[in-house]
Amino acid sequence: MSSIFPIVTYEQPSIHERSVEVDEKEVTTPKFQNYLDKINKTFESLAGTAAGLASPQCGINKRVILVQLSKDRLFMINPEITKVSDSMQETEEGCFSVPGVYGMVTRAKRITVKFTDRHGRRNEIDLKNFYADLVQHEVDHLDGILFVEKVTKITQGKWPK
Ligand SMILES: [Zn+2]
Repeated sequence: MSSIFPIVTYEQPSIHERSVEVDEKEVTTPKFQNYLDKINKTFESLAGTAAGLASPQCGINKRVILVQLSKDRLFMINPEITKVSDSMQETEEGCFSVPGVYGMVTRAKRITVKFTDRHGRRNEIDLKNFYADLVQHEVDHLDGILFVEKVTKITQGKWPK
C-alpha cells in the first residue's frame, strides 16, 4: 500500500458525490486511524500549499476533512456547520481537484462548526475570515460541491476547462 492517496480531480465522478457519515464508534480503531494518517501524509505531500483536504479528494467518500487552522492541524469527522453569519465575504479560492483554476467565492464571514475529532471527542468551534471560508470549502466537498460551481469570477485559469 502506498503511503499517500492520489488526488481525485473534477473529471472523476466520485468527487461530485455526497460522502457518507462516519460511524463514530469506528473513529478510534487502528484501521480508521491509519486512514487518517494517510490523509495527513497526503496533505503534507502537497508541500505546504494546501490549507485543507477533504476525504473525497483522496478517493474515499466519507465525511472527513483535514484543515490547517493557524498552527493547529485538525481532523473534523462528520463536520456540521450549525451557524452562519449574515455578513458575507468574498475570498479567492483554489482547489487541488481543479488544478490551475482560481476564482472568487462569496461565503459566510463567521461560522460555528460541530465535529468529532480523531480521538472521538465531540467539539464545537467558531471560525471567521479565512478559516471560516476554508471549512465551508472543505464541507462542500463532502456534499460533492466544487468551488467552481459557486464562483462569481474566475481570476486565474479557465473554467469550464
Ligand atoms: Zn477543494
